Amino acid sequence: MKERKKTPLAFPGDRLAVSEEFLPGPHTYDSSGQIRALRAGSVVKDMKSMEISVQPFAEPELTRVDDWVTGQVEGSQANSANVHVFFLNGKPTYKDFSGMLSLRGLSGGGRGERRTTPVKPGDIVRCRVFSLVNGIIHLTIDEPDMGVVAALCGNCGRPLLKGSATKLKCDECGNVEERKIARDFGNTPIEP
Ligand SMILES: [Zn+2]
Repeated sequence: MKERKKTPLAFPGDRLAVSEEFLPGPHTYDSSGQIRALRAGSVVKDMKSMEISVQPFAEPELTRVDDWVTGQVEGSQANSANVHVFFLNGKPTYKDFSGMLSLRGLSGGGRGERRTTPVKPGDIVRCRVFSLVNGIIHLTIDEPDMGVVAALCGNCGRPLLKGSATKLKCDECGNVEERKIARDFGNTPIEP
């Protein structure tokens, strides 16, 4: 019997097999009997050892830990947001990639703390790369120079102005919004 198989592609979290069929090999994990991909890459099945693994894509060296990136928030959840990166260390990048901005510890919600919104979709943010674990670019804005550098009013769509250290205001409609803002918020042109 022929064992040559097309190698399907997998993305992190994709279900590759059930644990009755295969053993989890490199770059996979067993999650309650489902073998899933830990990284993006090609799926490799070893029929001798009955092991399934992921061969990660050879990625160009895009970013390193401690780089900074500037991009636009595309979507946000309670503890993270997706950032589409346009600038790498202040220079335009034409490679299409996104990072995952961690908002843990920034959104408040502790005892006696009011819940705040560190970033909103559409905001331009400057972020630090703090980890590249599992092929994901993990970003943080927990530094004075990092955070939102430009944002539009959620009410009328005009650019927001700096109000205080954590508040932005709209001169047009009087709307006030909270963000984790970078020290140079509001400078024009934006410094990526
Ligand atoms: Zn407004």
